[in-house]
Amino acid sequence: MFIEINHDDCLPQFLEEIRRSAPPLARIDEIKISEYDKEQAYSDFIIIKSDDQNSEKVIVAPDIALCPECENELLNRKDRRFHYPFINCTNCGPRFTIIKDIPYDRINTTMQKFEMCPECQAEYEDPLNRRFHAQPNACGVCGPAIKLILTEDIGINKLSDFFKDTQANEDSLKKSVQLLKSGKILAIKGLGGYHLACDALNDNAVKKLRKRKIREAKPFAVMVKDIQSVTEICDISEAELKILTSYEKPILLLRKKKNSEVSEKISDSIAPNNPFLGIMLPYTPLHKLLFESSLKALVMTSGNKSQEPIYYTDSEGLEELSKIADAFLVHNRQIQRRCDDSVVRIYDKKLSFLRRARGYAPEPIALPFESKNILAVGAELKGTFCFGKERLAYLSHHLGDLENFETLKAFEEGISDFQKLFDLRFDYIAYDKHPDYLSTKYALAIPDNIIKIPVQHHHAHAAACMAEHNINEPVIGVIFDGTGYGEDDTIWGGEFLICDYVNCERAGHFENFILPGGEQGIKEPWRLAALWIEKLAENSDSKKSAFKKILNEEQISKWNILSKALQQGINAPYTSSAGRLFDSASAILGINHYIDYEGQAAIEMEFEAWKSDALEVIPVDIEEKNNLFILSPKNLLNYIIEKIMNNDKVESAKSDSAKIFHNSISESIIRTCLKLREKTGIRTVILSGGCFQNLLLLDMTFQNLNKENFNVYTNQILPPNDGCISFGQLAIAANKIK
Ligand code: ZN
Ligand code: ZN
Ligand code: FE
Repeated sequence: MFIEINHDDCLPQFLEEIRRSAPPLARIDEIKISEYDKEQAYSDFIIIKSDDQNSEKVIVAPDIALCPECENELLNRKDRRFHYPFINCTNCGPRFTIIKDIPYDRINTTMQKFEMCPECQAEYEDPLNRRFHAQPNACGVCGPAIKLILTEDIGINKLSDFFKDTQANEDSLKKSVQLLKSGKILAIKGLGGYHLACDALNDNAVKKLRKRKIREAKPFAVMVKDIQSVTEICDISEAELKILTSYEKPILLLRKKKNSEVSEKISDSIAPNNPFLGIMLPYTPLHKLLFESSLKALVMTSGNKSQEPIYYTDSEGLEELSKIADAFLVHNRQIQRRCDDSVVRIYDKKLSFLRRARGYAPEPIALPFESKNILAVGAELKGTFCFGKERLAYLSHHLGDLENFETLKAFEEGISDFQKLFDLRFDYIAYDKHPDYLSTKYALAIPDNIIKIPVQHHHAHAAACMAEHNINEPVIGVIFDGTGYGEDDTIWGGEFLICDYVNCERAGHFENFILPGGEQGIKEPWRLAALWIEKLAENSDSKKSAFKKILNEEQISKWNILSKALQQGINAPYTSSAGRLFDSASAILGINHYIDYEGQAAIEMEFEAWKSDALEVIPVDIEEKNNLFILSPKNLLNYIIEKIMNNDKVESAKSDSAKIFHNSISESIIRTCLKLREKTGIRTVILSGGCFQNLLLLDMTFQNLNKENFNVYTNQILPPNDGCISFGQLAIAANKIK
């Protein structure tokens, strides 16, 4: 922004004041001062309309949660916006999800159709008012309204049909609360899409939601009335409290409180077999109003059918969710683009991301190096794209899994959207080497004048973490995930790399094993259990009894057919995936034979391991072959099979084995890193990949590497899962081009 002031003695004071009393959301990157020889004496301070020719560096802000001042007004009977569900000001409210075009003026937002009433207009024009140039400014007289619609009343109507008559915010709100309290499921139109909500203390309602959504086990997020109520449900540290109440208001993973009256009332079906709850506070005024009743906690899960991205258009929302919701609490402010809730946790007293979206995106990320105009298209699961320009990375919000048509559409639209909003273009495109990823296909279909840069998946993981922490030297990259395309036609995923931004060498990995049935082997971890039993059994008798103990009849007969196909190499890809090793152990232990969501088998085994304090380690064999360290998990998996075979008290054997599995995998990482340090002299280690979402594995490995005097880094502002891939691809491409 440009400020012209009459140069006099108070200039230093003025500059200091700008820094000191900047509004809460202001971000000052740099202040440049130059003398301007125009003889004009200003007598007051005015802000003039943005000039779109001149918007050189445009920053589109994220959506921000309701601020304390607006909250006070919202709940103040005497205020003219008392209980108005769309109250906002320059310090809070929607941004990213209402912008259609730049510059960011009301006319370029979805608020354009609401003409401000004289009172709102006066606030908007008054430099001393908190709503000065607040683009979504509105009130009950002139702004958007809410409406409760029963699903049975929708019929062939469009959303707009319901907003023809008088606006009745208060009434809709009361009825919504009544329905929620009586155990009904509501579709609630929010900031970046539709949520599905029900009373979190009503087990039947939560079960009904699971059934209708066809989502068996994946945890639901919970919106809790206020901090007081959160402390009744979960344990919370100072650092966590700060994040939960921040103006971004993400979903934060917190540990369920044991033996508390309220936490006991929270339905077990919200996060089955899980010691954590994903908690968020009400972040829009509408949410806040729902909790003005006696409601304490609401399930707030993405409004979608299993696997699909969150619905954000009214036509899609009404049509698709009418099969799930009993009623709709909607509004008539259009959502311009979809944006999910962010998911974070605190690790090592620091904020770390599992999903970066609302509240954070599209805030650009500073790069520790110059970037040409580059577009990086990411991987497939947890898709994101990332533009590079000069010293900034414009990382998209979490888009979802690109295997889905809707997500692919969002990906393509998102790219042109970002180009327009941030004035971006690209001369280079970076992509994953996996030929079947839709993002790869997108990149390869771009005309030839754009230079194409393929990037190995695990190298991208490492580079993302390096760029986050400004590491500019060769590192040992320990990248453990589910799937990544290797350089040798096998699926990689338990990798030790020696790399910098430009070069990457595979230095070690888990011994390859067959993934029985490819994709199907990921969804049905029992197949991996069968594979290892067969591989490790001493004779046919011990194989038979292990099959009988660990698998059921149906699985055994299926395996007999399957193993013949595998011997012929049908649907039998080789992998070194650490994720699949966790699945293997989980299945052997009988924790998960089938999964409902990505990573479930490993996640539930982690929680099983938390119950044990076993310290035992079963050493993983590490052998050096052709300059590569090969880690064999055979001993470890054999130990687990035997433990299950020989132990009658299965329950403690289960959690002890799960813990020992974690201990041993972590110890094998330390030992391999020590060997690599001896060989190369490198003492900086990067831990990335989806497996490091596992807190137990992460923490053990992080602490023990530190004890061995390594400098250890993990992802923080980006998720360690494939959400970080596009940023890593950008880091590699930018440095290769140099
Ligand atoms: Zn506000
Ligand atoms: Zn108004
Ligand atoms: Fe990955």
